[in-house]
Amino acid sequence: MLCLRNVEYEKNGRKILHGVNMTFREGMSYSILGPNGAGKSTIARILMGELKPTSGEVLFDGRDITGLNITERARLGISMAWQEPARYEGIRIREYLTLGGKLKVGKDEIKEALELVGLSYKLYAGRMIDKTLSGGERKRIELASLLLLKPRYAILDEPDSGLDITAGELIEELLNCFKKTGTTIILITHHEEIARKTDFAYFLCAGRLVKKGFSREVVEYYRKTCGKCLFVEGSRHDDKD
Ligand code: ADP
Ligand code: MG
Repeated sequence: MLCLRNVEYEKNGRKILHGVNMTFREGMSYSILGPNGAGKSTIARILMGELKPTSGEVLFDGRDITGLNITERARLGISMAWQEPARYEGIRIREYLTLGGKLKVGKDEIKEALELVGLSYKLYAGRMIDKTLSGGERKRIELASLLLLKPRYAILDEPDSGLDITAGELIEELLNCFKKTGTTIILITHHEEIARKTDFAYFLCAGRLVKKGFSREVVEYYRKTCGKCLFVEGSRHDDKD
């Protein structure tokens, strides 16, 4: 189980997260839903160990892992597909997907992962990662790499951004696939129709947790309330701190 306990994050004297508590149970899928600037990517980076919270803890199976870095968390089985995929260049997609051969996966498995994200094995496996790849292709490659890695926790930050209209179906297939391998999904999005596909959801706004529960209920609440409140930066709510 992965948890955030009373996580606060402050940058340049501004509070970005206000005492966030979240629990992610093994084998389930979760969305973190919220408008731009809500603090979703900040949460992802704190879960991954790229950022340290100003206060509060990250717990993994009851152990405090707040002090662990990205590599140490990856070793525990926590991995992420970043909102802006890293620009690895100069290696072939096949090498990238197998971590330079360290990941022992066969051709069939690589083919299956690439084709699930909509890329043909024949056209892409041997292709170099370079400037000729589009943002959407990079994103798909990154998702295929997580499928092959089969981490215990996969954090997907806006996996649908930069993808075309088939993104909804792709996310659904990814969720099914991760469910089979027992990977817990933390899917970050500002799209209701994407959030609806997970088991549970957290609705975050202006760095605060507004609602949690079954995805369909949280999405319904988000639909009714988001954009119609004063729960935004500079509002009365922010001034309370
Ligand atoms: P989301 O992913 O929900 O769109 P972010 O977590 O990226 O939101 O950002 C939350 C808030 O924190 C935003 O107002 C953003 O401008 C601010 N923020 C993020 N990173 C930094 C940073 N490095 N320095 C200052 N402010 C930041
Ligand atoms: Mg973001």
